[in-house]
Amino acid sequence: MDAQFFTAWIEEIARVVTANRDHLTRLDAAIGDADHGANLHRGFTAVLEALSAKPADSPGAILTLTGTTLIRKVGGASGPLYGTAFRQMGSRLGPGADVTLTELASAVEAAVAGVQKLGGASEGDKTMVDALAPAARALTEAAQGGAKTGEALDAARLAAEEGARATIPLQARKGRASYLGERSIGHEDPGAASTALILGALHAAAG
Ligand code: ADP
Ligand code: MG
Repeated sequence: MDAQFFTAWIEEIARVVTANRDHLTRLDAAIGDADHGANLHRGFTAVLEALSAKPADSPGAILTLTGTTLIRKVGGASGPLYGTAFRQMGSRLGPGADVTLTELASAVEAAVAGVQKLGGASEGDKTMVDALAPAARALTEAAQGGAKTGEALDAARLAAEEGARATIPLQARKGRASYLGERSIGHEDPGAASTALILGALHAAAG
């Protein structure tokens, strides 16, 4: 996977975030402050601008620029958290021009670690970690099992979608939704839902 692949991933994220902006906002209206769709739309619009203003020439540089831009442009919890996720992936990939499946899996594991270090959430706390951590595991397992790229990314997408769905019955223990206590039960976490979209975009970029 080369710089063109990672550019296609980011462009696909921007597209699906825009297409799902109202959906993400509705999820956040139920257990947060109704800005998650707007936050990510603003963030990835700025990322597209940053990438076209200053074309990054390696996968790592593209992901680092993406993360830095998200941190700069997105207020709220998700900006620093997604920003850290992309910056961690970028730094794990380093300056190489081509990324193997094993390296990508390692980068997604680094994203999980970065988000958990910054936000302090564990799986089951009803956050983006509930989609991202299983996706990283699925990718690592697929890579270790010798899967083809498309299959591995499909497994990661599915794991993220299942993880996001599984947040519905949970009570939030981190972030704004945790203020609702038991009233957060019965709603999908918006950040887990957007993580599933981001992993879906990764699969789409491969196909
Ligand atoms: P805010 O909550 O500041 O309005 P957003 O609405 O953009 O920010 O993002 C909310 C999402 O951020 C939540 O649905 C959750 O997935 C994620 N989130 C919030 N706090 C944490 C945390 N400590 N660790 C991981 N993810 C978190
Ligand atoms: Mg919000």
